[in-house]
Amino acid sequence: MSLWLRTEGRTCVAVAICDRCKMKRYSDFLVPDPNTPGLRVCGDTCVDVLDPWRLAPRTTEDITVKGVRPEVALINSRVYAINYSPKAGSYALGENILGVNSRTQAVLQTDVAGVITYLEDGGLSFQVGEIILGLTSGATGICNSQYGQN
Ligand SMILES: [Zn+2]
Repeated sequence: MSLWLRTEGRTCVAVAICDRCKMKRYSDFLVPDPNTPGLRVCGDTCVDVLDPWRLAPRTTEDITVKGVRPEVALINSRVYAINYSPKAGSYALGENILGVNSRTQAVLQTDVAGVITYLEDGGLSFQVGEIILGLTSGATGICNSQYGQN
């Protein structure tokens, strides 16, 4: 690199110093560095490639499902009944009862003389011989038979 800048063919030349390599350059040859905008650096060798992490994050796509309808539970209005043998405690009215083997849950309606009536979506899904657990009261009984009522 020569000490002098060639000024041939240029009518107006301003001289500047590159902020990175400290070389004397034509002023219009220096460009702002994209990663460090305060620096004016050589346009051919000293300028950095723009770091894409400095760009604004891209906008996220809209992934919401179009035309959503509210989820409505399938409700069977029939009342079912279980004959059972009480083992421990007594069921509370309105509590959830759970079939321990079948994992069936239902809402207890009445409990009279060894017969439970209940509301449940799936209908007759307790198993004969399984333990029916009252989830609030902790009462247990064994299902002897079940049948549908109206
Ligand atoms: Zn430079």
